[in-house]
Amino acid sequence: MCGACMADQRPADSVPFTRLEAVVCNLCGIQDEVLLLEKESFRIVRCRGCGLVYVNPRLSQTEIAQQYDEGYYTDGSYADYLAERSGYERTFELRLRRIEQRVKPGRILDVGCAFGFFLSVADRRGWEAYGLDLSPVGCKYATEELGLRVLCGTLAQASFPPGFFDVVILNDTFEHLANPTQDLLQIWTVLRPGGHLFLVTQDSSRLLVRLLGRHWAQYKPREHLYYCTSLTLRRMLEKVGFRVLEVRDEGLVCTANFLVTKAGNVWQPAGRAAGWFVRLLGLGSRLVFVRTGYEIMAHAQKQ
Ligand SMILES: [Zn+2]
Repeated sequence: MCGACMADQRPADSVPFTRLEAVVCNLCGIQDEVLLLEKESFRIVRCRGCGLVYVNPRLSQTEIAQQYDEGYYTDGSYADYLAERSGYERTFELRLRRIEQRVKPGRILDVGCAFGFFLSVADRRGWEAYGLDLSPVGCKYATEELGLRVLCGTLAQASFPPGFFDVVILNDTFEHLANPTQDLLQIWTVLRPGGHLFLVTQDSSRLLVRLLGRHWAQYKPREHLYYCTSLTLRRMLEKVGFRVLEVRDEGLVCTANFLVTKAGNVWQPAGRAAGWFVRLLGLGSRLVFVRTGYEIMAHAQKQ
């Protein structure tokens, strides 16, 4: 899209023009989109060719990278990421147990590892674990506090040797990628032949998402750039040569406090009522298993 064309479609004045970049469909490469919804002055569109949903135009990559600073994990997308460590670790332990039913522990890469909680669990379970993240704060914690092998940067910058990993996993990272097809190609390259990819993201075609519309908390156009469905995710994986073995519903473990915060993000009265109830019973730090109804995990194999 040229700059002149963009002028008609730019978000409102709260997002300066110079910080935006226009993109074509990352799956089929065409530029024929229909407006799905607007949120926070951004346009979320659907490709007429393949159905992929994405933000267009979006913040520049520099702006996006700058978001993942210390505030991101305390008062940004995550109210208090470190306080949720026990929930994340329980989630990752359950996830790894399922992975280990398919692959025995070997060399694993977590793309978008944040503070390294997945790597920490994998390490304890006998994996040789590596991580990547764009957040300097997350990488610093993972390396200095947890002593993990984590690089701050992208897959391209990491320069892992071809065929280095048995497994690559993305835990709620895929929707953040600027060029998912290119990253999938790089993942394909660093996996050994027969290596496995596990990819956890959200299915934006689910009934709950359609009912919530623009109020769906995962529509975060400043950082979530792509909104897959099971179908578009399969197509992306197959396009780069993966064999998709399964796409299944996924859940997570979190504290009751975390759940209350998320409920409040969707509908404040519900969040307030749930918060009062949880405080009354002293259940705030209790871990609960939740199926959101839209979280999915794809399992694919390098052929
Ligand atoms: Zn398309």
